[in-house]
Amino acid sequence: MNYANIKECDIANGPGVRVSLFVSGCRHHCKGCFNAVTWDFHYGEPFTERTAQKILDALKPDYIQGFSLLGGEPFEPENQQVLVKLLKQIRKAYPQKDIWCYTGYTYDTDLQKGGRVYTGVTDEMLSYIDLIVDGEFVEAQKDVTLLFRGSRNQRLIGLHGYHAPEEPKRALKPLQKGS
Ligand code: SF4
Repeated sequence: MNYANIKECDIANGPGVRVSLFVSGCRHHCKGCFNAVTWDFHYGEPFTERTAQKILDALKPDYIQGFSLLGGEPFEPENQQVLVKLLKQIRKAYPQKDIWCYTGYTYDTDLQKGGRVYTGVTDEMLSYIDLIVDGEFVEAQKDVTLLFRGSRNQRLIGLHGYHAPEEPKRALKPLQKGS
């Protein structure tokens, strides 16, 4: 597996300050994708044991709330084989930190037994993840006010009792002068 980027102080892809890994390879090809260079499975750098250690070290400070996994597509079958090991390492080293994963696949169908990207390690991967952001990016449903996601069809799904953050209340419209 290759990866495109590691952000060691990310405040955009989950709560608090996070370490984020953007993996390479994605077959969804959503119109308006924020990161189209990562569609290519060969984009970026090879993910090695040294890369995994860099992520584990970056997660160490107390101010880091958790880890976010993005793409590209973490649940492409060939990426799952590498990422399950990384997630296991992170969960073991930092049981108190939360793990979020963004996927263009649908949690209740594609990632379940018999689903189109269900593999022998999918259940194990999901066992380490606290929250899934699922669904392709749909440009026609783009909404920049959404919390931690780009289009209205995408969902924040808390797993294993983890509570997905609430959508903030929309600001009230200011009163017009003279009304
Ligand atoms: S799933 Fe994500 S990375 Fe893949 S094409 Fe859609 S928006 Fe881009």
